[in-house]
Amino acid sequence: MASTFVDTAKITVKAGKGGNGAVAFHREKYVAAGGPDGGDGGRGGDVILVADSHLTTLMDFRYRRKYAASNGSDGSGARCSGKDGEDLTIKVPTGTVVRDAETREIIRDMSDGKPFVLARGGRGGWGNQHFATPTRQAPRFAKPGLPGETKEVLLELKLLADVGLVGFPNVGKSTLLSVVSKAHPKIANYHFTTLMPNLGVVYVEEGVSFVMADIPGIIEGASEGAGLGHDFLRHIDRCRLLVHLVDVSGSEGRDPIQDFDAICAELAQYSPELASRPMIVAANKCDLCYDRTQVDSFRAYVEGKGFPCFEISAAAHQGVKELVWSIAARLRELPPVRYYEPEYVERPKEVTVDTSVPAEIWQEDGIWYAQAPWLDQLMESVNFGDYESRNWFDGKLRASGLFDQLEAQGIRDGDTVDLYGLQFEYQR
Ligand code: GDP
Ligand code: MG
Repeated sequence: MASTFVDTAKITVKAGKGGNGAVAFHREKYVAAGGPDGGDGGRGGDVILVADSHLTTLMDFRYRRKYAASNGSDGSGARCSGKDGEDLTIKVPTGTVVRDAETREIIRDMSDGKPFVLARGGRGGWGNQHFATPTRQAPRFAKPGLPGETKEVLLELKLLADVGLVGFPNVGKSTLLSVVSKAHPKIANYHFTTLMPNLGVVYVEEGVSFVMADIPGIIEGASEGAGLGHDFLRHIDRCRLLVHLVDVSGSEGRDPIQDFDAICAELAQYSPELASRPMIVAANKCDLCYDRTQVDSFRAYVEGKGFPCFEISAAAHQGVKELVWSIAARLRELPPVRYYEPEYVERPKEVTVDTSVPAEIWQEDGIWYAQAPWLDQLMESVNFGDYESRNWFDGKLRASGLFDQLEAQGIRDGDTVDLYGLQFEYQR
């Protein structure tokens, strides 16, 4: 795969529109006037996110940024409801944090394995079958379907791992991961190999295991033009423990203490909180250390700073077991992997209608008709099939002063009121 490393993406999702309700009348030979039998529109499809633990980058979203679920079909005659639109399921790597693109508030942390409805499909409109009343037997209208939700979101990958491996390129991070787990990261004796994060499950003993992440190095991402700076560090944001790998063999002419300090400085620059994360140091490539002086001074240096130091050879499997045990022991004392609580609250779209405009009221054949632009708008937003919604609508009507207006004109309990075809019995 290409060496680009993608761990953020901005996408737009659009749920399906609800289908329109139908205006239709029952037709039968020798039957003069059939009743209204227009069916309802189908629901628009939802856009649903699911977490997939096999994915470790957001690469796919670089090539496709717009996602739409399908629309509900319109209703038709003979009380046929339109088909519901199909849901669209989008797979994201486990640990993806979803934010509102504009406010950057966290909408959802995709790390609990549960699917998440990111955008809801619009409701289908009611067919004219619902609008027949004793006094109006041929309603010539139906409700349109409502639009589906649209959201622009930022996906941000924060891998789900207990332990994060940090260190310069080529120090043996991938080797260590492949030795302690079943993961098969790329291992090569040149820099810039790990451009994809790798996760491995480390089995310690019966019932004890942890997840270790080998992530792209600072220099790796930057020199490949990924332009991430130390952005990649977001992958270890959640890690409970860091294992800092240093090549102490001097095989590449590097100074282990300088390397150690350089990585610590990067961590601190990214976030002081990350710099103070519990850390264990692993001095690697000890199989190449023919002279102990360098190892000894390195050990003295990091232990002086309060970090435990393990001498290992990932390639020769030396000291690796001890390291794994001490990681497991340390993890037992640490709080669980961080979960990001949602900050974004779905604000119910408050319908702001100016109900101060008096309605136009007239009486015809004993029915009270009332119309106003705001009334039409208000009715669009009500699901008359739902008790709560009808109650809400009733409250809005009362608050608007419409009933007072009707009272003033002499309406009585039990009279029929018609609002754009919606008829009901007046009750104070
Ligand atoms: P990474 O860039 O930190 O992931 O490093 P790799 O795991 O890809 O290793 C880089 C090179 O160092 C590879 O050629 C490895 O075989 C080698 N290597 C890793 N660990 C050891 C070790 O303990 N001893 C020796 N001699 N070589 C090692
Ligand atoms: Mg590597």
